[in-house]
Amino acid sequence: MKILLLCSGGDAPGMNRFIYDIYKEFQNETYYAAAGFDGLINGRIYPLKKVVKEEDKNKAGVVIKTSRCPEFKEKKYFKVGMENAKKFDFVVICGGNGSERGAKELYENGVKTLFVPGTIDNDVADNYYSIGFSTAVKECVYAVQNVMPSIESMNRSCLFEIMGRECSQIATKTAKIVKADYVAKDKIEYEKIVDAILRKHEKGKSATILIRENLEDIEKVAKTLNKMLGIDIVKFHIVGRTQRGGAPTKEELEMADKFAAATIKAIKKGQAGRVLANKILKVEIKDFI
Ligand code: ADP
Repeated sequence: MKILLLCSGGDAPGMNRFIYDIYKEFQNETYYAAAGFDGLINGRIYPLKKVVKEEDKNKAGVVIKTSRCPEFKEKKYFKVGMENAKKFDFVVICGGNGSERGAKELYENGVKTLFVPGTIDNDVADNYYSIGFSTAVKECVYAVQNVMPSIESMNRSCLFEIMGRECSQIATKTAKIVKADYVAKDKIEYEKIVDAILRKHEKGKSATILIRENLEDIEKVAKTLNKMLGIDIVKFHIVGRTQRGGAPTKEELEMADKFAAATIKAIKKGQAGRVLANKILKVEIKDFI
């Protein structure tokens, strides 16, 4: 059997563990397309044994590389990628909801495809956990824990910019864990933030405000809030790439193992589809929708 693996879209901690597990099971039967759909189009396809190393299995990053490849949406490039994909008995694609659309296209064109959710954003439909989410949340919690003591010492409040593209799950989960004073999921409500800050400052305390990325420029948000408050007390912190590069949590490694086990089972049964985590984080195969 020949199995092709590729990662697509943003990298997510835990992808390496998933890749390692698949390699351990199928060894010389496994290949990878370097940097996702880009490698598939350009024929950069190699044996997985070239890059998989035991010492990377618990690390963030992606040994087979990943990328965004807008060309794959164009018919002529898609066709080339599809022809390369058809040389394999199975194609396993790990990525977010964009990558899933690519996976579905391949599936609908006769490629035996398995899609595995791998994205810190946790934005795959019908899926309760995607590889990378736990670590991204952990890094945001650390950021709040590491920044707020200094903010409090200076009697200030802080805005934290949190990743998620158009999805606020990392921000909302972090907000719950740190008991944030306000979380901006889809819009920034200035008056509410000012109220949250004033309530804290009246008690000599500091407000923790979480803002999902892609809403507004965080520096400008801080400036506006300071203007509204009439005093320069609002600082901001962009949590940034540690959300992707942080060491995978134990939950991450466990979930990557579960996704790999379900993927292996599906390959052995000859079953294509979406490898999804349900409410109780059991991983099972569903049809493409
Ligand atoms: P993510 O998978 O993390 O959501 P993107 O939305 O950037 O990331 O999608 C990753 C890649 O998936 C895109 O760069 C493109 O190669 C592929 N893709 C996205 N949408 C489609 C589509 N409609 N058809 C084919 N490929 C797609």
